[in-house]
Amino acid sequence: MKVTAIVAAGGRGLRLGATQPKQFLSVAGRAILERSVSAFLVHPRVTDVIVALPPEAAGTPPEYLQQASKPVRIVEGGLRRQDSVSAAFHATPAETEIVIIHDAARPFVTADLITRTIDAAVEAGAAIAAIPARDTVKRARAAGSSAGSGALTVAETLPRDVIFLAQTPQAFRRDLLEAGLTAAGATHVTDEAMLIEQIGRPVRLVEGDPTNIKITTPEDWPLAETIASSNSSRDPGFRIGGGYDLHRLAEGRPLILGGVNIPYERGLLGHSDADAVCHAVTDAVLGAAAAGDIGRHFPDQDERWHGASSIDLLERAAVLVRGLGFGVINVDVVVVAERPKIGPYVDAMRERVAAALGIAAAAVSIKGKTNEGVGQIGRGEAIAAHAVVLIARN
Ligand code: MG
Repeated sequence: MKVTAIVAAGGRGLRLGATQPKQFLSVAGRAILERSVSAFLVHPRVTDVIVALPPEAAGTPPEYLQQASKPVRIVEGGLRRQDSVSAAFHATPAETEIVIIHDAARPFVTADLITRTIDAAVEAGAAIAAIPARDTVKRARAAGSSAGSGALTVAETLPRDVIFLAQTPQAFRRDLLEAGLTAAGATHVTDEAMLIEQIGRPVRLVEGDPTNIKITTPEDWPLAETIASSNSSRDPGFRIGGGYDLHRLAEGRPLILGGVNIPYERGLLGHSDADAVCHAVTDAVLGAAAAGDIGRHFPDQDERWHGASSIDLLERAAVLVRGLGFGVINVDVVVVAERPKIGPYVDAMRERVAAALGIAAAAVSIKGKTNEGVGQIGRGEAIAAHAVVLIARN
């Protein structure tokens, strides 16, 4: 089932003293918008993401939106939130069945909450995250004129057990959301659930999350920093990835390993330059970020990658993973080859791989190993490479 996420980030609200809208500001070192979008980019049920940015920012979106692991479309937001959502909805692919909408100002949405909301929308057509009111809820009315203008008194106490505070995400079957948007026209709504309520269709409530706060005013900042740091102490942000590759040796081919041309009577056979070291490291880098593999991002059948150098693909993978908010810490590679001896080329390979990853050569280790004459590799028919990579959240 195709699920499109819409992140509404069209607001121009400036935090006190800041020069840019609050969604571009950082909490604990990471932009609020990046945190919100990333929750959907890494979610296995979400196929693609549409981000509504303020018009002046839409032409030059931040790098983390340009180098993402899933398709990200940018649209110009409107004056009101519903205008931004409407613009994003019109950019939704035709195959999309569920649209899940999230407010960029809620950067701590969890994967579980996204899953719950999608599941409920699949079942009920429309679903929103909401939390029960904890305080006693009063409806107010204007006090008498003698109390001064703006003074309020309690009109009634509402039954707390039926009062819920709406959050996002809010998820909808595509046809239902379209009907709601069309029917609403110019009517002002403060969330998307209202569009569905107005056409008389039920909206399912799913259990929200108290840490899924909306950052609205400067007073929210200390709480946001606390949530961010408690999340990062539960998850220190390190990821490990493994990669493996093997290519057959053939006559009339150059031998390229780790981006270095190694003089030998045969070379590795494959569509590309068949650089098994780069392929193993690329898979390890992508794997560490759970961002798929080399075949998914750079398929053999795609003309763009035909004859591409594998060191370039490695560099692209590193950019992609940086776009997900990670930096590569170190790499360790074992090259299993009976011949030639790779020792004399190891330092050159480390330099090339390090440059592609944007890290120091000291953080890249490459070791050669023979297969003791055993099997295809031992008979000199193939060369294999194993890689492990550590990445960390920036
Ligand atoms: Mg390969």
